[in-house]
Amino acid sequence: MLIAGNWKMHTTPTDAGDLARTIAARTREPGVTRVICPPYVCLAAVGAALAETDPDVAVGAQNVHHELQGAYTGEIAAPMLVGLATWVIVGHSERRRDVGETDELIGRKLERAMDAGLRPILCVGEHLAERESGRATEVVAHQLRGALADHDATAITERGLVIAYEPVWAIGTGRNATGADAAAMADAIRESIESLGWGARAADVPVLYGGSVTSGNVGAFFAEPSIDGALVGGASLKPDEMAGIVARAGITARARGLAG
Ligand code: PEP
Repeated sequence: MLIAGNWKMHTTPTDAGDLARTIAARTREPGVTRVICPPYVCLAAVGAALAETDPDVAVGAQNVHHELQGAYTGEIAAPMLVGLATWVIVGHSERRRDVGETDELIGRKLERAMDAGLRPILCVGEHLAERESGRATEVVAHQLRGALADHDATAITERGLVIAYEPVWAIGTGRNATGADAAAMADAIRESIESLGWGARAADVPVLYGGSVTSGNVGAFFAEPSIDGALVGGASLKPDEMAGIVARAGITARARGLAG
């Protein structure tokens, strides 16, 4: 089970370390991998705090540039993250929305991340109108094809690709998908990547659910065997919420025989 917290544009280098320490101390569960993704400027502070408190909690970045270096003011390339992060979120819907990231660009980011040894969490998900018109699966399949078609399936699975299904209408809205809808999409995601030539490797790709996850609703997602964890936004800034979410992931890990 994997629980990744996306702190988005919250915290400063002054307060991020304390928050990371508090969350780490309250979320130890066998069989659960924890990742905290603070803003770039807080990566070092969070890394230092976790090294002291609980080195089992990994640090992730929220984005990475698609080039290795160059005249890209304000951007961060994958090699710059080495030593600061071991995971990276790629293709978050807020970046698709706010800076127009395309599937092709996201595919290049994945390449850079993996070349630098970072483990990527690739976000996909449909808008509300797309779900309401019955096109959710098609939209997500298109995103996956655009980002993954040029990648070698063996290499990308060996480098630990994780896919997060995050319906856009559920992010930060307080309106979450149902467990059954998330599970159906997780199955569709694996079918899509299988059809990209991944064969049996598709079945092993971890799929997370993200979108207004809380300690109160996360059980519905973890009740679905095809969901391997959660990408948590707003609730990941609240230690009580994270404690509840990770505790539930721990129960699930034990029930699935993953906690030994
Ligand atoms: C996210 O940022 O990936 C997310 C799912 O946010 P929230 O949990 O706040 O909906």
